[in-house]
Amino acid sequence: MKFRPSKKITTFYPPQRTLMGPGPSDIHPRVLSALSRPTIGYLDPVFVEMMEELKSMLRYAFQTANPLTFPVSGPGSVGMEMCFVNMVNPGDKVIVCRNGVFGGRMIENVERCQGVPVVVDDAWGTPVDPQKLEDTLKKHRDAKIVAFVQAETSTGVMSDARTLVEIAHRHHCLTIVDAVTSLGGAPLKVDEWGVDACYSASQKCLSCAPGLSPITFSERIVDMVKKRKEKVHSWFMDLGLLLGYWGNTTRTYHHTAPTNSLYALHESLLMLQEEGLEAAWARHQRNYKALKAGLETFGLRFLVEEKSRLPQMSAVHVLPGVDEKEVRRRLLHDYDLEIGAGLGDLAGKVWRFGIMGYSCKMENVMLCLCALETVLADMGVKVEFGAAESAAYHAYAANPSPLRSPRVAAG
Ligand SMILES: *Cc1c(COP(=O)(O)O)cnc(C)c1O
Repeated sequence: MKFRPSKKITTFYPPQRTLMGPGPSDIHPRVLSALSRPTIGYLDPVFVEMMEELKSMLRYAFQTANPLTFPVSGPGSVGMEMCFVNMVNPGDKVIVCRNGVFGGRMIENVERCQGVPVVVDDAWGTPVDPQKLEDTLKKHRDAKIVAFVQAETSTGVMSDARTLVEIAHRHHCLTIVDAVTSLGGAPLKVDEWGVDACYSASQKCLSCAPGLSPITFSERIVDMVKKRKEKVHSWFMDLGLLLGYWGNTTRTYHHTAPTNSLYALHESLLMLQEEGLEAAWARHQRNYKALKAGLETFGLRFLVEEKSRLPQMSAVHVLPGVDEKEVRRRLLHDYDLEIGAGLGDLAGKVWRFGIMGYSCKMENVMLCLCALETVLADMGVKVEFGAAESAAYHAYAANPSPLRSPRVAAG
């Protein structure tokens, strides 16, 4: 058998889509152009300077002074795993709050670190119940860690991270908080809330290319990991070894950093800084309100109660009798518009509309409503043309934008 290059393959040019699913989100041209700059060495003094800026901008995004704040080379799942492999010793009891897909993955992580997970379950679409956490901690006084997801992307629900961290600390537990979808899109205050370990991902509200996971560890965690008796089971994710590259003193080879992706993250964080964190949170709220007003005109009902909804991710029940897959297929085909399907138990039951980062803008909300209108009409659903746009318009008018943000204006 001979292995010959295939003659049919040519350069890959992806179509220009509008990304309104659960991530990745649209990427600003400034960030895309950063990706194509010359690759330099990961120990080049110029690169090392850029790393320091990156770390400081991540501290701003996370609202923390933690020296150990840096992007892990890998998607959000690697950030998640990094927290567990370093913090969980065999036999450690870890309370995991599960109210969606990602809490379930945390349990998997605890088991694979040979920890003992104790699960606090809440229905999908509801926030983590602080009382249940408190009750569980009273029953398990030997628990060491509490882990939960602040913004459950699978359902669009926000849990009260501040309260959950406060309860965990009252019971002498450290906390691991998944802020993959919250970072840059909704309030997250690592230091003010006392979060011990927190991770995110580049492709959600930071609107950067996928493949990086911003992470921050308090000094308490760094000390704890240094004192570990047993070696961390992952070589790549061992915090002690990674400190040699991302730490404050030394800069030695650990792995080849994804230099170009890091330029892109630098640019996207710079844009977040230019806009201002509070302004970015407000922009997500404003566009959410307009999207919601429009979606409701189709009779779409939200999975999550209004007070616990994420602005950046809305899950709505599929309209009865409508082929949910076909709606998504037509949106993609006719409008190059991607929305998300349901995950896990919600597969086939919900649509997920993401307005994350650079995707979170008026033109996307209006496009999405118009596209949905025509696609649903084509599929035989009775729609009143113009009603969704009108509702969204009035929501925007009732909540005027203080300033067109640079992230939006330059697009
Ligand atoms: C997307 C997501 C992850 C996983 O991130 P990847 O980059 O896909 O590995 C983890 N947690 C939450 C809440 C997410 O939304």
